[in-house]
Amino acid sequence: MSTHVPAGLPDRIQHFIDGYLVDSVDGGTFDVLDPISNRPYARAAAGKAADIDRAVAAAGRAFEGPWPHLLPRERAKILNRVADIVESTDERLAELETYDTGLPIAQALGQARRSAENFRFFADLVVAQRDDAYKVPGRQINYVNRKPKGVAGLITPWNTPFMLESWKLSPALASGCTVVLKPAEFTPLSASLWPEIFREAGIPDGVVNIVHGLGEEAGDALVKHPDVPMISFTGESRTGQIIFGNAAPNLKALSMELGGKSPAVVFADANLEEAIDATIFGVFSLNGERCTAGSRILVQRPVYDEFVERYATRARNIVVGDPSAPETEVGALVHPEHYDKVMEYVEIGKTEGRLVAGGGRPDHLPHGNYVSPTVFVDVAPDARIFQEEIFGPVVAITPFDTEEEALALANGVRFGLAAYIWTNDLRRGHSFAQQVDSGMVWLNSNNVRDLRTPFGGVKASGLGHEGGYRSIDFYTDQQAMHITLAETHTPRFGIH
Ligand code: NAD
Repeated sequence: MSTHVPAGLPDRIQHFIDGYLVDSVDGGTFDVLDPISNRPYARAAAGKAADIDRAVAAAGRAFEGPWPHLLPRERAKILNRVADIVESTDERLAELETYDTGLPIAQALGQARRSAENFRFFADLVVAQRDDAYKVPGRQINYVNRKPKGVAGLITPWNTPFMLESWKLSPALASGCTVVLKPAEFTPLSASLWPEIFREAGIPDGVVNIVHGLGEEAGDALVKHPDVPMISFTGESRTGQIIFGNAAPNLKALSMELGGKSPAVVFADANLEEAIDATIFGVFSLNGERCTAGSRILVQRPVYDEFVERYATRARNIVVGDPSAPETEVGALVHPEHYDKVMEYVEIGKTEGRLVAGGGRPDHLPHGNYVSPTVFVDVAPDARIFQEEIFGPVVAITPFDTEEEALALANGVRFGLAAYIWTNDLRRGHSFAQQVDSGMVWLNSNNVRDLRTPFGGVKASGLGHEGGYRSIDFYTDQQAMHITLAETHTPRFGIH
């Protein structure tokens, strides 16, 4: 199947350093594929340590310039212009994102709008920023002098590339940091829109630098760079562990948003129609390539058979196809390597659970990285498809009898990112939800974010929380100032 090819598609993607589009110092490039033909359509500059050095030096110089010292309102005005431009180019942005990632166009458009909202939100937040002050009556006044930390290293994954880049760029810039962004190598296309957006919005040269390249080369060099005091990383838990080790010699601040295997727990008293809508959307939207996907559904026994039957029917009806078609609900997975990984799990699942929907490539789509929405039921908690993150349109459904059993199943994995609880019992809803090991819980809802709330995971799903003022806390240092008001009370050594 052919897909829509955006007009004016670039055939080379360059770094953006100190306001210039540049190739790699050593001229290295890597191929960028589209997920339908799996053929290269562009070559992107493959950054290495020398390119990271240049970008960090530019960001360092920009940090000496006006950016960190602007009044919050001045930075906010510029960030709001970024939001305006992103909003006004949302269709182009979605078109490119869909072409590069295989995400359905309607969902890519939603992500484009969310990217603009991230900039608006953090612009508002820094204008409203307040800091702590403490009085010790008659003796001292203490206050917090908040300072941007310096050059922020931002490393992002491929699942919703532009949106996740905006999720890190916006608080870092709002805080007054300058940045070096290393986008995911599977999906560098939409990041090539940032330079023009930032230029038009009036962000000074060198404040934002973008270095493309492989994680083990460009990403690694950024993590190890001594002049980058902090790394905000989103990606796999295994990569997070490597970065944690590599950041240790320089004792960097780390914010890590990692993998998930989030449970959706459906009690017998839940509104089944709503629960089915949300649990279908929760694992099959964004092609299942979603960190907060509810990829394990735990269903209480009295409604289990009915739930499974209705769920499987809906899953079989999901429209899989050309990502650029507005009616498409599940598009193509990002890259053939990832497709192979997901397909391997589909085969493993056939030995671990009962297949009731999907189970391979859809018959009508012989080419491209397409996987039918796949549903395994009666999955045991020690199954690999219950324990491991698949990051594709594959779900495991497991029955339970009691609340205690549901809690043990929900918490019985190494991850702890999100959880979704479905019940009409208010007491149980809260008490159960509070015992789940996860950074975030949605009660009777799919994943609807309020940007003020903490975002992050526990256990293998992350380190630290961003969201609202927590993001600003990550990108700034809080210097405690102590001022004596009256006479000093110092023990007088050496006067005897
Ligand atoms: P990944 O860990 O393979 O790559 C993420 C980024 O890290 C890429 O830019 C990559 O080039 C870079 N990288 C890889 N190795 C590196 C190294 N040694 N040093 C420095 N950088 C390195 O992840 P992915 O496959 O791109 O993304 C999918 C994963 O991201 C899933 O596990 C998903 O759950 C997770 N994710 C988490 C969240 C969240 O907020 N918790 C959001 C989206 C995705």
